[in-house]
Amino acid sequence: MTTTCTGRYALRRKLYKELSYDERGKPMHRRALKAKKRAMQNSLCALCADLLPEKDVVLDRFEAKNGYTMVNTQLICRACDTVKQERLRFTDGAPL
Ligand SMILES: [Zn+2]
Repeated sequence: MTTTCTGRYALRRKLYKELSYDERGKPMHRRALKAKKRAMQNSLCALCADLLPEKDVVLDRFEAKNGYTMVNTQLICRACDTVKQERLRFTDGAPL
């Protein structure tokens, strides 16, 4: 089997696609991270300490640019996320 130009191009496109996909965080990766965070936080919201629901929880990043990693995220409930988003909007994203 020979490597044709088309084949190489397709491979590069595939790699590029995977790289950009990584940046956003793979859905599977995020799901695994959520499960780990939930265990670490004893199923409690990191902000209000309410019991997190089975579904509809938010993986919150401290620094959006740092992506979905163990140290950069916390699991919070939808209500806390809404409050946080509102606050970010009012402060223009500046740290409080
Ligand atoms: Zn909460």
